[in-house]
Amino acid sequence: MSRAARIPRVPVPCVVAAVLAAVLVSRPPAAPPRQTETFTGCFDTAALLIGYGRGFTADAARVRARAEELHHLLDIYNDYEGVTNAKTVNDNAGAAPVAVPRELYEVIETGVAWHGRTAGKFNIALGPVPRLWKECAARGEGRPGPDELAAALALCDIRDVILDPERQTVFLAKPGMSLDLGAVAKGYASRLAVEEAEGAMLLNLGGNVAVNGPPADGRAAWNIGVAHPDRPNDPSQSLISVAASGGAVVTSGDYQRYHYDDGQRLGHIIDPDTARPGALYRSVTVAGPDAAICDILSTALFLLPREEGMKLAGEAGYRAIWVLPDLSIADTETERTMDHQ
Ligand code: ADP
Ligand code: MG
Repeated sequence: MSRAARIPRVPVPCVVAAVLAAVLVSRPPAAPPRQTETFTGCFDTAALLIGYGRGFTADAARVRARAEELHHLLDIYNDYEGVTNAKTVNDNAGAAPVAVPRELYEVIETGVAWHGRTAGKFNIALGPVPRLWKECAARGEGRPGPDELAAALALCDIRDVILDPERQTVFLAKPGMSLDLGAVAKGYASRLAVEEAEGAMLLNLGGNVAVNGPPADGRAAWNIGVAHPDRPNDPSQSLISVAASGGAVVTSGDYQRYHYDDGQRLGHIIDPDTARPGALYRSVTVAGPDAAICDILSTALFLLPREEGMKLAGEAGYRAIWVLPDLSIADTETERTMDHQ
């Protein structure tokens, strides 16, 4: 038999149809539809969830419940029935050690450890000082007097936060002391809460963006924009985008909470060395594996000179992005400054 005779003759339209069918079959399955949910009531800020497909509703409920639970634990303003929280510790300042739940102990222990690593710029014992500034912000004007600031600062020594790891107790040694967990609580809570989701999930808790892996739409990573400080609610104005396939991207800025005095904008991140708001940068964004550390670093780097901040972020293994007053950007990843007017 000739060679040609062994090859069956297939009409051309059938070949085309077969190739088309193969292409159709090998196309990846359609990505599950993207879903979002917003909620409030946690950490005095707005929260956003992004996930996919049919499991989203149940996942979102779990994430939200965990965020609420952690909000109650880390709250310094309100009591909740049956909950020993950060306010309980503050209420017992100068009086008695308080046995606290595991998560609260972990946040306080982490906070104390990072005081030393940030040259004292990150201080969870700073409570009395931000309280004075928040009173001015609530009035929408003014600044505390130097004498009251000095008196408040005298009650902010981190060495007066006494931890007992065996009993899991926290004792604020002087009456009038108070913890303020505002610069770590949202990061810590976003990490624990997003871990509750079984499907791919992104949680943005007031600028603390935590993800539990890559998105479920085929992309390798989520793209998280660094907001323009003067147009923070317009994502199209983002200055730079950070890719995250896990961990977190956290921003501290002068534009989220602030008030004016004599035409000067006063932010809510207080330099423990001066008891006054830091004003070196418009914002600092920190990206890396642990959202709580991102939150701590974003606050500390907001107050540190850039060289020191670069060194600290580098040693910790985190990426940092500074938005400077002229809106130019400095980035540990490129270690150079880019103009971005
Ligand atoms: P945001 O809460 O907007 O995400 P931060 O994470 O930087 O911003 O936290 C700022 C809050 O932390 C302030 O509102 C205050 O309650 C508290 N805080 C201010 N300055 C410091 C500081 N130097 N160290 C620790 N906490 C601080
Ligand atoms: Mg912070």
